[in-house]
Amino acid sequence: MLSLRAAPPSPSTRAAVALHTRAAVAAVALARPARRPLESLRRIARGALLTPIALFLFGAIIGSFANVCILRIPAEESIVSPGSRCPHCKEPVAWYDNVPLLSWLALRGRCRRCDGPISFRYFVVELASALAAVALYLRVGFGVEWAVLFAFVAALIVVTFIDLDHRIIPDVVSLPGIAVGFVLSLRGEPGAVSSAIGILLGAGLLLAVGWGYEAATGREGMGGGDVKLLGMIGAFLGWRSVPFTLLLSSLSGSAVGVTLMWWTGSDRKYAIPFGPFLALGAVLYIFCGDRLIGWYLGLGAG
Ligand SMILES: [Zn+2]
Repeated sequence: MLSLRAAPPSPSTRAAVALHTRAAVAAVALARPARRPLESLRRIARGALLTPIALFLFGAIIGSFANVCILRIPAEESIVSPGSRCPHCKEPVAWYDNVPLLSWLALRGRCRRCDGPISFRYFVVELASALAAVALYLRVGFGVEWAVLFAFVAALIVVTFIDLDHRIIPDVVSLPGIAVGFVLSLRGEPGAVSSAIGILLGAGLLLAVGWGYEAATGREGMGGGDVKLLGMIGAFLGWRSVPFTLLLSSLSGSAVGVTLMWWTGSDRKYAIPFGPFLALGAVLYIFCGDRLIGWYLGLGAG
């Protein structure tokens, strides 16, 4: 009978084989030095850059849709049809003139047919949405949490520009936003309890501030839209985000208000929309809320 099993190699044989293998690998590496950096560069590009680039493009497309929402929601028009039209000649915009970011640059902000100016804001909204998609990826990676937060930030972008244009925050965004934020919290961050408290605290805090302001001054200070927006922020980000957002938005809103009064030389109180500052506070909470709250609590302890 012949044994097919080879005898186990002796320790010295194994060492010799290992040495030989290592030498062979080194020799192969030396033989083609030019391919290795290229190879690793390609691997880095594939792994580290492909997702952010794809998300940037996706974000720009959603930004293009956000532009449609900003224009049509206050006018109570459909956000689905008809397709985009030039605001001046009302002609339908061809698909190749409707590519996010690129078309605005290629046409230098003008309509191809009538040469009418196309606002720089379309470009800004598309870029903000694209950058938000990438920034959120860097913050939480790609997954369900990314999708939830990106939808939330896209809604904040829409709300911000509608409030700047019309001084309203449409219920058609904030009320479904509260419901969607709560439902999503059942299966993920920040959890149903925190989300529910966030809704109550968000809406309740602003209502209390509004009533207090009205009782003290006899003027209406806080719009009902702001109340529902802070409720939506609490629904998506949890109750901890509510005092944070309110504090940051009050500080930034006051800073801008005082600057405007100084700039225009007027001492009358400027009625600036509060929605954009609430949105800014919520975005700051997503990206550095933990750190800022930790730093603030640390100040109190130390
Ligand atoms: Zn036109």
